[in-house]
Order: sequence, then C-alpha cells, then structure tokens
Amino acid sequence: MNCIFCQIIAGEIPSKKVYEDETVYAFCDIKPMAPVHVLIVPKQHIASINEVTADNSAVIAHIYEVAAQLAKELGVAESGYRVVSNCGTDAGQTVFHLHFHLLGGTAMKTEMC
Ligand code: AMP
Ligand code: ZN
Repeated sequence: MNCIFCQIIAGEIPSKKVYEDETVYAFCDIKPMAPVHVLIVPKQHIASINEVTADNSAVIAHIYEVAAQLAKELGVAESGYRVVSNCGTDAGQTVFHLHFHLLGGTAMKTEMC
C-alpha cells in the first residue's frame, strides 16, 4: 500500500521511534510544532477517524494509554499536553493513516481553531 506511515511502521522509511508494541507505533514528527511532538499510530491501516468502527476501535483506547505513558516519559504529563487527530481536508489532514499528535513542552494557544 502506498502509505507513508505503513512504510514507517514496516521499517521501509526511517523514523525516530519512541514506542512500539503489537498494535501501536509512535515516532517523532518530522516537522515538530512543539518541543514534544510525537505521532502515535495504529499499526493497522485506518485512513482517518471516519473509518473507526466497533471492529477496530479498541486500538484507539490503547493509543490513549500509550499517550499517557509517553507524556510521563517525555516530561509533559504535569505541565500539560494536547492530543490531536486531524480528520479530512478542513482539519488539515495530510497523511491518511490515522494518527494522534502528542504535543507539549510549551504553553499552547487556547483557540482550538
Ligand atoms: P496531519 O497534517 O494531521 O495529517 O499530520 C501529518 C504529520 O505527519 C505532519 O505533522 C507531518 O510533519 C508528519 N510527517 C509526514 N511525514 C513524516 C515522516 N516521514 N516522519 C515523521 N513525520 C512525518
Ligand atoms: Zn497506512
């Protein structure tokens, strides 16, 4: 499949891995927008939130467990952080493999859009 995140998960494209288990992979964003900017992705190819169903949604809960663990490890659990998943054109989604941005290490704008 011609999906850059599937290729990263398969090790075909290099990434700075911060976490991996059977169902989830996390790596540093190539263009960080905050001092901490990690992408947490399901290993299964799911294009976006639009494709989340009862059959594949368990991994989403697991991703939030991983986000909480990584926030602690990366030192932002107490200072605060944001977990964001852009869905579709208006939200600015550019990679159509579901991913969650974990952003922290700075005080972020309070406007959500
Ligand atoms: P989004 O705009 O929400 O779809 O986010 C896609 C993110 O993937 C952007 O923040 C990009 O900087 C990031 N990205 C794209 N290619 C790579 C890559 N090869 N390694 C790490 N991050 C990437
Ligand atoms: Zn993919």
